[in-house]
Amino acid sequence: MDFLKPRYIPMKSRRRIYEGKAKVLFEGPEPGTLVQHFKDDATAFNAKKHDVIDGKGVLNNRISEYVFLQLNSIGVPTHFIKRLNMREQLIREVEIIPLEVVVRNVAAGSLSQRLGLDEGMPLPRSIIEFYYKNDALNDPMVSEEHITAFGWATPQELDDIMALAIRVNDFLTGLFLGVGIRLVDFKMECGRLYEGDMMRIVVADEISPDSCRLWDIKSNDKMDKDRFRRDMGGLIEAYSEVARRLGILTEGDNPKAEGPKLVQ
Ligand code: UDP
Repeated sequence: MDFLKPRYIPMKSRRRIYEGKAKVLFEGPEPGTLVQHFKDDATAFNAKKHDVIDGKGVLNNRISEYVFLQLNSIGVPTHFIKRLNMREQLIREVEIIPLEVVVRNVAAGSLSQRLGLDEGMPLPRSIIEFYYKNDALNDPMVSEEHITAFGWATPQELDDIMALAIRVNDFLTGLFLGVGIRLVDFKMECGRLYEGDMMRIVVADEISPDSCRLWDIKSNDKMDKDRFRRDMGGLIEAYSEVARRLGILTEGDNPKAEGPKLVQ
């Protein structure tokens, strides 16, 4: 009487849509949805440096959930629907625009290198940069001219993306300042969400210490992926501290605890 047994869908039957460096996308339970799974893999310098950091995926899932819920609550549209478990969240399927949108408030990283600016120098105003998402080309920086000329986004879409980037930056700057953290810079990605005849640009991917530079206000300690890029150690402790300050992690939580395993 097999047919009377509850229907169990094993993980491995889920269709894998895409595997990136730190995340996997699976087919979702309903059309137009996907499951975004956060891995523990850490990569830098276009994956030339790679490691597995136990518990990172769990922390990024929680921190990104928190940020996207806050953004949704102030009317910034995102792909986020709900968190499913320790490592996974349900998201709307969007058509990813092949750009990394970087917003900077303080000089650091590649900006400091390129223009010879001291890391930590406040910028005269927030600056938006675009990088073309292409691993083979090392994600080159591009201008609005390239983006519209090559059709990666229309001028109207680019206006929407920049307006979203500024809103996200203003909101996140305040959110982190409230818990003693300076938002130095961050990267966001956008997608086209189709609803019937309508299309709108929404914030997609993740916003977490993997994609932001977060410095403690008092000590300037780095609480982000630069700890991995620069071999400083203490990454899980730093991400946990970000989560703790945001009120996400309570004392008893253990990000290294077993979550659903990624089926290879
Ligand atoms: N960033 C990212 N993914 C990338 C490149 C950059 O999330 O592929 C984030 C990075 O964490 C930082 C911001 O974008 O918060 C600006 O990075 P930058 O251009 O300084 O490059 P990096 O120094 O990381 O090479």
